[in-house]
Amino acid sequence: MADDSGRRDVLKRLGLIAGAIGTGSGMSLLSRAAGAQALPHLSLQDPIAQALAYHEDAATVKPEQFPSYRKGERCSTCAQLLGEAGQAWRPCNLFPNALVNADGWCRAWTVRSTQD
Ligand code: SF4
Repeated sequence: MADDSGRRDVLKRLGLIAGAIGTGSGMSLLSRAAGAQALPHLSLQDPIAQALAYHEDAATVKPEQFPSYRKGERCSTCAQLLGEAGQAWRPCNLFPNALVNADGWCRAWTVRSTQD
């Protein structure tokens, strides 16, 4: 069934994401993607983006809906964000086929040890 296939794909991708968070292997996946800045912006309709409650603008996150969110959390302060500081759209370990907004946020936010 198409629905089961889609569900399996989402679960498989979430498993890969969990692995990328745990091992940092997402970096190697992304480094293989040539021309990262040519990637499209992450779609809000992407099943993984939806599963992780990705927002293009962290200012629109409703804390009552996402209790784990803390003011100041955004992609540019997340350990998963790649690319160069100052760019509005940057690669993220969790979404190797798209760019995320530096002002965005998702449930996988993890504090980065160094700030841009
Ligand atoms: Fe990627 Fe972190 Fe932004 Fe989530 S919060 S989309 S993991 S950079």
